[in-house]
Amino acid sequence: MATNASLPIIGRFAPSPTGCLHSGSLVAAVGSYLMAKRGGGRWLLRLDDLDTARQVTGMADDIRRTLESFGLFWDGEVSCQSTNGDSYRQAFERLQQQGLLYPCGCSRKEIARAASAPHPDDDCIPYPGLCRDGIKSGAVVRSWRIRVPESEICFEDIRRGAICQNLANVCGDFAVRRGTDEYLYQLAVVVDDDLCGVNQVVRGDDLLSSTPRQIYLQRMLGIATPEYCHLPLVTGPDGSKLSKRDNLVSEQLGNLKGQEGQLLLSVLRFLGQDPPPELAGAACGDLLAWGVDCFDASRIPLRSGALPVQRGFPGSPSGGPGGRSINLLSPTRF
Ligand code: GLU
Repeated sequence: MATNASLPIIGRFAPSPTGCLHSGSLVAAVGSYLMAKRGGGRWLLRLDDLDTARQVTGMADDIRRTLESFGLFWDGEVSCQSTNGDSYRQAFERLQQQGLLYPCGCSRKEIARAASAPHPDDDCIPYPGLCRDGIKSGAVVRSWRIRVPESEICFEDIRRGAICQNLANVCGDFAVRRGTDEYLYQLAVVVDDDLCGVNQVVRGDDLLSSTPRQIYLQRMLGIATPEYCHLPLVTGPDGSKLSKRDNLVSEQLGNLKGQEGQLLLSVLRFLGQDPPPELAGAACGDLLAWGVDCFDASRIPLRSGALPVQRGFPGSPSGGPGGRSINLLSPTRF
C-alpha cells in the first residue's frame, strides 16, 4: 500500500459548518492537533462546506473562534471544500476514464426493496447493483457510482489496530457524485486531503467505516494513503449517543464560566492522557504544551465514553473510556 508516513506529519481538523462544535468535535480537534504537533508536524483547518443545504450562517466563524479560545491555532490559511470543485471534477474524470463509474437511477426506496436482507437503516444497505450493467432507458440519473471489488480493503488504525472491510458486502458500489454536478463526501475528502498533503487523519470513530471506501478511492486515483487514527466517541454517562444539540462546547463553556482549561483537561483525560497534578487549573496554552511533549496515542482508550466535564482535577479516576476490549491480534471486520 502506498503511504507517505515518512514525510513530516500534516494533520488536519475538518469540521462541517452545519452547527457549533460539540464535545465529539472538540475531541477530534484536540486529538488531531496533538498527534500532528507531537510529531513535529503541521495542523490544518478545513471547513467541509460541501453540503450547502445544511450549512448554518455564522457557524464557520463560530468554529474558528471556539478553536482559538482553546489555543488550537491552525497552520496556514483555512481551506474550504467549496473552492475545490475543479479538483473533484478531475478526480471524477480520472475514475471515469478507468471505466469504474456508472450512472444510477435508483431511489433509496428502490434500493431498499431490491436488497436481499432486511436493513434497519437505509444508509447501510449495500447497493444491489441494479444499474451496474446499464441504467434503464429514460431514467433520471440520480447518482454516479463506483464499482467496488469483492476483495477486502485492510488498513492499520493507530488506535483500533487492523481493520478489514469487504466493500461489496458493506456498501456495494457507492455514490461519488449526485446526478447533478455535486460531489459527495467520500470522493471530496480524499481529494481535499491530497490537495493539502495531509498524511495523518485523526477523527471520530463514526467515520471508521467510511475509511475503507476512502482508501479504495485513493488507490484508484493513485493517491498515497494517510495514516489513520479514529478516536473514541463521546457518549452520555449511560453510554447513550449524544445529540449534537445537547452537547455544544459553547454551552459547556458557558456553564464553566470561561474555564476552557478545565474542558481541555477533560478532553485530555478522555483521550487517556494523564497530565501531572501541577496542571490543575492550568491555561489551555500550558495544557497543549504538555500535550505536544507528552501525548501518547497508545493510551487512547478503545471504548467510547462520557466526557468527564464536571469533574475536578486532580481527583477521582478520569471517567474517560476505559479498558481495552477489542482483540488487536485479529483484524476487526465489518
Ligand atoms: N467534515 C466531516 C465531519 O464534520 C469530517 C470529515 C473527516 O474528518 O473526514 O463529520
